[in-house]
Amino acid sequence: MEDILSKVYDPEAFREAGHRLIDSLADHLGNTQHGLTEQAITWRQPDDALERWQFDPEAPGGDAIDLLQEILAESVQLHHPRYMGHQISPPAPVAALAGFLGDFLNNGMGVYEMGIPGTAMEVNVVRALAKQMGFGPEADGFLTSGGTLANLTALLAARSIRAEANVWQEGNVRPMALMVSEEAHYCVDRTARIMGWGEAGIIKIPVNDRFQMRTELLEEYYQNAAAQGMEVVAVVGSACSTSTGSFDDLEAIAAFCGKHNLWFHVDGAHGGASVFSQKYRHLVKGISLADSVVMDFHKMLLTPAVTTALVFKNGTHSHQTFRQKAQYLFGQATDPEWFNLARRTFECTKVMMGAKVYVLWRTYGTALFDTFVTRMYDLGAAFAVLIRNHPDFELAVEPECNIVCFRFKSGKDAEAENKLNARIRQSIVEDGHFYIVQTQLRGITWLRVTLVNPGTSMNMLAKLLERVVQLSKD
Ligand SMILES: *Cc1c(COP(=O)(O)O)cnc(C)c1O
Repeated sequence: MEDILSKVYDPEAFREAGHRLIDSLADHLGNTQHGLTEQAITWRQPDDALERWQFDPEAPGGDAIDLLQEILAESVQLHHPRYMGHQISPPAPVAALAGFLGDFLNNGMGVYEMGIPGTAMEVNVVRALAKQMGFGPEADGFLTSGGTLANLTALLAARSIRAEANVWQEGNVRPMALMVSEEAHYCVDRTARIMGWGEAGIIKIPVNDRFQMRTELLEEYYQNAAAQGMEVVAVVGSACSTSTGSFDDLEAIAAFCGKHNLWFHVDGAHGGASVFSQKYRHLVKGISLADSVVMDFHKMLLTPAVTTALVFKNGTHSHQTFRQKAQYLFGQATDPEWFNLARRTFECTKVMMGAKVYVLWRTYGTALFDTFVTRMYDLGAAFAVLIRNHPDFELAVEPECNIVCFRFKSGKDAEAENKLNARIRQSIVEDGHFYIVQTQLRGITWLRVTLVNPGTSMNMLAKLLERVVQLSKD
């Protein structure tokens, strides 16, 4: 009998399997792009899915590539022009290939020598991003696994640098807090709680009718917190908020932080990518005044998940999050070493995520990102016009980017209207022709799209509205 390990590592079997998979992915890409594939999502009830994908570890077999093709067919199709759900890009195929290479190499990245090209690509990508954001040469940072973890890392750095106490040594010896808009992504709330600050540690600033932080209230909330003995460490600006894609006034937050010597963090997970658009970069005016900025490459920059940059205005700050020593990994050095990235990240072993961005950016240049971001934001504005001019629909707010919240107006009472829109959304997902999501704003249920596909046309968006009207009748 052939040895199982030599079978697994057989180069010729791999060559054959790899060619088959790439061929089917290329066919799939063409079919989804040209609308030959019906489904943007194949819906299944959770229990049904569990049953469908069950397996017996003691009875292996079957063809691995056939199996991968089944997974492909039943997954959400981000390359489909009728995909307009959550905030994540249809990855550029070349970036996905870089991801595949990274998986194949499995360079651990924890120490410099375990990922030499990966480390150097990552640092060059982050520095190029910092420059694009308008930061000076002293800015620096790294990539990490997702916006959620990056926000936590940034705010741990903020605490380490701005808090009066040495928290790493002494723990939280006095109550601390951060300030953020009530529309911020939930991970900021989670961060405050993870840091041990509890509910009081997150001070939520109300938003205006465009769902932007009311920065004129910062002083009042700050003084109230101070009067209660709280030490406010940081203010987080959302660029943009998740539900409605609203951009906070970063210049106003920067001025406030300057006045009180607070850390200014920008959560630009989605909208930080606006810096690449000549037409829309004004949305993030003031971003380079931040002490730290988070931006997801996997949201608006055609890169596979998860690939998130955390940029620090003052690069030396990026070394201060974790003061713990791991001598066996890093030796005796006390100087900041740009090349031992794991000193600065949560991850020890880390995916070679830099390669995915690097290959894309180096091959196609900044013009690719400008074109994509600009086109998607333009499409958001055009869809808003369509909705505004349609008698059966209303917009939650004029979109600032490619996130659009709208709903069907039935003329019924608020609760019935919420239920109707939620049912419409569920029917759309179960049907799978389109993929859209929903959100709640001040007790109202809205249908929500994030336009992330270059193939999405105005004609398709008009069809989506037609479909909603049709479903409202059923
Ligand atoms: C998506 C998003 C996050 C979370 O990022 P992940 O990469 O999904 O962890 C955080 N903040 C904002 C504003 C977001 O839009």
